[in-house]
Amino acid sequence: MNEAKKGKIYLVGGGCGDPGLLTLRAKAKIETCDALVYDALVNESFLAMAPESCEKIYVGKRANRHALSQWQINALLVELGQQGKTAVRLKGGDPYVFGRGGEEGIALHQAGIPFEVIPGIPSVTGGLAYAGIPVTHRDCASSFQVVTGHLKDGGEALDWPVLAQTKGTLVFLMGMKNLAAIAGNLLREGMDPATPAAVVYRASQPSQRVVTATLATIAEASRQAGMHAPALIVVGKVVALRDELRFFDNKPFFGKTFLVTRSRTQASSTVEKIRELGGEAIVYPTIRIRPVPEAMDRLGEAIDALGHYSHLIFTSVNGVELFYDQLAVRGQDSRALAGLTITAIGKATAAALEERGVVPDVVPKRYIGEELVDKLSPLIGAGDRVLLPRSKNARSLVADELARLCPVTELPIYETIREDRTDIDVAAMLAKREIDYITFTSSTTAKYFAEKLGADRFDLVQNAKTVSIGPQTSKQMRELGMAVDIEAAAYTIDGLLAAAEADSAASV
Ligand code: SAH
Repeated sequence: MNEAKKGKIYLVGGGCGDPGLLTLRAKAKIETCDALVYDALVNESFLAMAPESCEKIYVGKRANRHALSQWQINALLVELGQQGKTAVRLKGGDPYVFGRGGEEGIALHQAGIPFEVIPGIPSVTGGLAYAGIPVTHRDCASSFQVVTGHLKDGGEALDWPVLAQTKGTLVFLMGMKNLAAIAGNLLREGMDPATPAAVVYRASQPSQRVVTATLATIAEASRQAGMHAPALIVVGKVVALRDELRFFDNKPFFGKTFLVTRSRTQASSTVEKIRELGGEAIVYPTIRIRPVPEAMDRLGEAIDALGHYSHLIFTSVNGVELFYDQLAVRGQDSRALAGLTITAIGKATAAALEERGVVPDVVPKRYIGEELVDKLSPLIGAGDRVLLPRSKNARSLVADELARLCPVTELPIYETIREDRTDIDVAAMLAKREIDYITFTSSTTAKYFAEKLGADRFDLVQNAKTVSIGPQTSKQMRELGMAVDIEAAAYTIDGLLAAAEADSAASV
């Protein structure tokens, strides 16, 4: 058969801003598409979900470049379909709420190209929810109208007397340029000037801003606050519920940007926690973990001889992972650890073991070597043997102290090296004061951060607050000439974020 493969176009709503609002179906299609056609209101993080081979085509407006016209976009979609491509046409919010999805669907239909719609969470409902405004409420709004604020011919196409008489909620999209005219029209047609009104900028995003006033004062209040597109204009009693229904822009880290300097692989849980607390997290990895190839044979030999050891100590998740990699290579599993006294430094290390069905016997409360030695010493006699797979860069204190008690086999199985692959211009961001907190979770992150920033730009660190995970890291920071603005009381990521949270609350 020689029939060409038929393409398919998905008209996909990306939701109103928060990347977590993308639907599962939208994500699945983005992850497998041949081409991704997107515009300005689409969250950047979605682009990274597409396969590397995917052709990404921007069709929105951008400074000093004209957007593609709607018919050009229609033609592009038709062409992609004719080429046999599976393409995602990604839009902000929902494709059929002022998204011109209908026009694109009709063009595809007429050209005989199969298409499907994947709805998204529209700004009208989802975005307003993030501003603490329910679009309806049993007591004060039993309907809502979604109205274009793009006033063709001065708004003649809209029935202002009807809009002004509504007992429900009015939401205007694309209306920021005409805010004064919109309010003026409603007032002229007799709407109560005291009706609550709001402007919601970039709803559900870290840069969300909300101005509330009344219908009579909203235009002036919005102007004074410097509000501009993209924003929703809401008129109706539901606006007054915001004080009780806010949940997003009153989170502890709302409006705060964190720089996360951990390795790429370790950063994600930290990023997650910061976002959960309402902050923005930018990953700027300063370190990378590299297994020491020569050490793997020695680790393998140690595993073959595990029976000779009585203690096994893990000091990091990396150590646990590499150890288990070697176990797996030998066709073994956690049962090989039976009979050993297992120690884990840090909650994350303990969790990594627990995931593998091993509950460590000893978990020092605090993440420092001294405490480990104190806790382990009573458990170790001269006849014991300790296996300590760990980082090449680790302090020798633990090994030295334990070696006084019994033979210790220390295996440097990985090393922490500087991560130079990154596309973030930290100096520029610091110069523009776009970063509020720089987090350091180890002395190496501090050291390599300083190296990457460079001596001549080092003063820029002062434009943000530095947050240290604990005394060792703080010591290194001070040696580098960095101020330690905040230090965690508990030497964990949660402790670090708690300290930042206290600072953030105090500085409001
Ligand atoms: N299809 C989109 C709307 C597209 S029209 C949806 O379903 O939400 C573009 C207008 O939508 C903008 O001018 C603005 O008024 C509004 N809008 C979209 N996303 C927004 C957001 N996150 N915050 C505020 N307004 C938004």
